[in-house]
Amino acid sequence: MSNISYINGVYCNHQNAKVSINDRGYHFGDAVYEVIFYNNGVFYDYEGHITRLYKSLKMIDIKFHISKQQLKIIIKNLIRINRVEFGSIYIQVSRGIAERNHSYFKLNSKPILTMTISKKINNINDNIKGVKAITIVDNRWSRPDIKTTQLLPNVLAKTYANEKNAYEGIFIDHEGYVTEGSSSNIWIINKNNEILTREIDGKILSGITRKTISQFAKNNNFKMLEKKFTKEEMLNSREVFLTSASSFVTPIIEIDNIKIGNGIIGKTSIELRNLYFKNFN
Ligand code: PMP
Repeated sequence: MSNISYINGVYCNHQNAKVSINDRGYHFGDAVYEVIFYNNGVFYDYEGHITRLYKSLKMIDIKFHISKQQLKIIIKNLIRINRVEFGSIYIQVSRGIAERNHSYFKLNSKPILTMTISKKINNINDNIKGVKAITIVDNRWSRPDIKTTQLLPNVLAKTYANEKNAYEGIFIDHEGYVTEGSSSNIWIINKNNEILTREIDGKILSGITRKTISQFAKNNNFKMLEKKFTKEEMLNSREVFLTSASSFVTPIIEIDNIKIGNGIIGKTSIELRNLYFKNFN
């Protein structure tokens, strides 16, 4: 992680970047966030991420005082001060500071904006290896479409996956359909060579990388459908891959110890991954 972070108007070292014990993000996960990838002067899907941030704020009724233009200045300053060439910018806005009380009725707290940059990066080069995943029951609340910092089920799923030597935990809903990964959207390429990813039905986060990739797939004449699929369909598909701002397009070659296709990275996943990078470089 880079050393300087931003916290409500101040750029400072991590040691000095402190939030109040009464921050509602700390108490209740009453906060939203975004992650934007940056590489050599280029932001990946900047508009999409910023638009979603303001949408998330609206969805949980946080009255944010900073405009999109001001936010961009802060982001650029933080990159400059940290002298980073690439990394993931983490932006979080909490409802603000107040004595602990569930309700924010008539509360006039000022939202707290914090930002950090992480230089940890997942395989941006061509030597991408496929990753393993495991499946896990989707036990999240019924609003995973809001990008809040309340991520405990996702945290547990990812940790469980890592314990099993896997990169991602894939959530399965109570009807046996795939929802999404603990921090990614999931895609398959089925036996009919159709690319499938779950529709935006309130049960998943509307991923920004997902949106870009589905556009690329359509523009490049792939058969692309936004339609949910079962765990069995996934296990029997030709290819599986995940998308997210920090993992881009990452092929999945094994799920629950079962090899996908012939257990090597699929052609279409790589094609989409390359299209993604080509778009931003
Ligand atoms: N679903 C979940 C649960 C996530 O946490 C993420 C990453 N934040 C995604 C999907 C992918 O979204 P994006 O492409 O916007 O990073």
